[in-house]
Amino acid sequence: MKDMTNSRRLLIEAQQFLPGGVDSPVRAFKAVGGFPPFMVRGKGSRLFDVDGNEYIDFVCSWGPLILGHSPPTVNAALKKAVDNGTSFGAATELEIIMARLVNRAFPSMEMLRFVSSGTEATMSAIRLARAFTNRDMILKFDGGYHGHSDSLLVKAGSGVATFGLPDSPGVPASFARETVVAPYNNLPAVTAMFKANPGRIAAIIVEPVAANMGVVNPAPGFLKGLRDITESSGALLIFDEVISGFRLDFGGAQALFGIKPDLTCLGKIIGGGLPVGAYGGRRDIMQMISPLGPVYQAGTLSGNPLAMTAGIETIKELSQSGIYEELETKSYEFGLKLNEEIKKSGVKARVNRAGSLLTIFFTDQPVTDYASARKSDTVAFAKFFQGLLSRGIYWPPSQFEAAFLSLAHTDADLEIALKAIGESLAVI
Ligand SMILES: *Cc1c(COP(=O)(O)O)cnc(C)c1O
Repeated sequence: MKDMTNSRRLLIEAQQFLPGGVDSPVRAFKAVGGFPPFMVRGKGSRLFDVDGNEYIDFVCSWGPLILGHSPPTVNAALKKAVDNGTSFGAATELEIIMARLVNRAFPSMEMLRFVSSGTEATMSAIRLARAFTNRDMILKFDGGYHGHSDSLLVKAGSGVATFGLPDSPGVPASFARETVVAPYNNLPAVTAMFKANPGRIAAIIVEPVAANMGVVNPAPGFLKGLRDITESSGALLIFDEVISGFRLDFGGAQALFGIKPDLTCLGKIIGGGLPVGAYGGRRDIMQMISPLGPVYQAGTLSGNPLAMTAGIETIKELSQSGIYEELETKSYEFGLKLNEEIKKSGVKARVNRAGSLLTIFFTDQPVTDYASARKSDTVAFAKFFQGLLSRGIYWPPSQFEAAFLSLAHTDADLEIALKAIGESLAVI
């Protein structure tokens, strides 16, 4: 066992002022029990807590840190940027540089707007889709997470899944009624919903690779099917690439699968560890955004110079050739070895992987949607998680989250992690 004296003390202090002692629910470890370590520093693949414990980090801030913690180029640029001021509330050239970089990677985003979180990006894209189509309903997928705005906090997977809530109190039933929910990977269900609500559905919003019910890949033809259904019914297709953007490929899932959505939402990696989101897409749609058009959306810190700087440096690093091949090779081999460890242990578990995202589901059945993900043994997962934590491996503290590999994870790191994983599986 690790010494967690200082983390325990801080958690009790934090609980006085912050609900659950945290500012985002999954950090409280409610799904797995025990005390969350309080962190003080990150470097490369490693996190360090207030008791001096060191961890190999597979959370990577839930996705943004594809370069690992404190990448030197990003840090150096940030230190310079700070000296010019932290926020102007006025236009800067940094926003153009960043927009060009995003547009080069995501040509479908002909115009875009920067915001400060993924939640803001999806919420704004939904408002825009409703305005553009003059329709109110949204179709999302069971277990798909698109941030916590009211229309989208319906059967939303991830942190919500962890607590077993179908949605949240405080979301008006009248809002939730405008959101219809289909099982992921189920085209017939989507078709049926369009038939049942003719001319009423403004958009389908989808994680092109689901990563908030644990990792679930789209079945062959699923995304193409969504593209066809939306096109033939006058609805928009919104890809929520907040996790998958710059993660699965430089151009995200849309480049990988060759599907062009009408609107795309980004976040996480494009902020390089600072708070950023973006939404964008077809020019004719984006021209409806204020001040060009009537759809209102604004932000005091949108396009913040520090956030733009971190994003620019991160995307520049990722644009070097061979980066995604390197990440894929590393992740592929890690996935293979994970499967070997599972086999050796005799535990009922299986690995779902999409590039550098992966989930070990504690079930012997294939996981293709949220219902099959929910069949996982969460008690076994909690034991596995605690085994890893005590061995210095910081794994996502929920069965329904993705683990993240970064470019900073070395072969040696992964060998250490695999040994700990083998030992943790053995005690289940
Ligand atoms: C994390 C996430 C969001 C929300 O982003 P925040 O920055 O946490 O608001 C939206 N969609 C997906 C797919 C995400 O993974």
